[in-house]
Amino acid sequence: MTAVPPNLDAEAARLIAVEDEHVAHTYHPLPVVIAGGEGAWVTDVEGKRYLDLLSAYSAMNFGHRHPDLVAAATAQLGRLTLTSRAFHNDRLGPFAAALADLCGKDLVLPMNTGAEAVESGIKVARAWAYRVKGVAQDAATIIVAGGNFHGRTTTIVGFSDDPVARDDFGPYAPGFVSVPFGDAAAIEAAIDENTAAVLLEPVQGEAGVIVPPEGYLRAVREICTRHGVLFIADEIQSGLGRVGTTFACDREDVVPDVYLLGKALGGGILPLSAVVADRDVLGVLRPGEHGSTFGGNPLAAAVGERVVQLLATGTLQTRAAALGKHLEDTLAPLVGHGVTEVRVAGLWAGVDIDPARGTGREVAERLLTRGVLAKDTHGQTIRLAPPLVVRATELDWAVEQLKVALG
Ligand code: PLP
Repeated sequence: MTAVPPNLDAEAARLIAVEDEHVAHTYHPLPVVIAGGEGAWVTDVEGKRYLDLLSAYSAMNFGHRHPDLVAAATAQLGRLTLTSRAFHNDRLGPFAAALADLCGKDLVLPMNTGAEAVESGIKVARAWAYRVKGVAQDAATIIVAGGNFHGRTTTIVGFSDDPVARDDFGPYAPGFVSVPFGDAAAIEAAIDENTAAVLLEPVQGEAGVIVPPEGYLRAVREICTRHGVLFIADEIQSGLGRVGTTFACDREDVVPDVYLLGKALGGGILPLSAVVADRDVLGVLRPGEHGSTFGGNPLAAAVGERVVQLLATGTLQTRAAALGKHLEDTLAPLVGHGVTEVRVAGLWAGVDIDPARGTGREVAERLLTRGVLAKDTHGQTIRLAPPLVVRATELDWAVEQLKVALG
């Protein structure tokens, strides 16, 4: 049961009760019922406004109802929404061409959710291992990092080390080797003749915005190249402008063999994910071996193409970098005053709350009463990921609210 605060509006309380009664309890939402959104702000059923510092786990990088994205979706809704890949549609090719160009790669495999992109990337890596690298059938392995979060499918949770995500969902798929995040030497030590790929988040999001040591991504790139192993970057949460560059790998001028994209790729309007790689990798999949009824649908492709066009100007990335620096400077003085550590990558921050001031959840609840939406992760951390269209003055105001919420 969600703890409904006694002062909650009757309509909000009713809607929370209906949700509690009929929706499986796989989340623990904060007690707010959102009914509208624009830019960096959302409005609840009572008309109270909140600054959104979660951005739907970075799916809302462009803000709520970005006018260009809504226009692209609306125009496409009036023409054609779904054909399946049994036929061609007039939106998929242009979207894929634009996205491939943004990534500097040849091919795009369109899917829907982030977890599907990860699953697809795993299939690509395994097929590449058997068909190109010459690994013995069913022996291919993929190296992953401790603390990872790549989604919720049975295969993916099998290589998570978070007991809440993993326990009681076995048996788990074999073929994954986990090494500590940020330790390139551990990756090299784990590689053998069966290693197909290294799968990493360049900055770990769900773990609490964990930024690896400088040089880590470059070292992973070099190790993968030297050993003939694919480097798969899960940029589903870290990519598409969040860290002040198009991809988090750009922070170290690193180009992985495979990008996994999702969340903001659909503009916060619909699910759209993709695997993006060169022909020598993604070309291993043959007709019939992989697919999705909704993957590559014209509605998602129309929105996705507009998303790519927005990113291609570089404006949002520059904005995220500048605002991120500002946020970092504003958060830094909180360390030692209710905050034990702050980690920042672009407009993305993990703020560790001093347990003496309460749990991350308690601070998020206090922020809610002050008009700020933020979410805790792993107990003591609050993740801040505002839409990239937020203003510096709004960030300043939010940090003021955080100071009060810290007590
Ligand atoms: N990969 C990363 C890095 C993520 O952060 C997430 C979701 O938070 C996923 C994959 C899974 O995406 P989805 O929830 O769309 O399946």
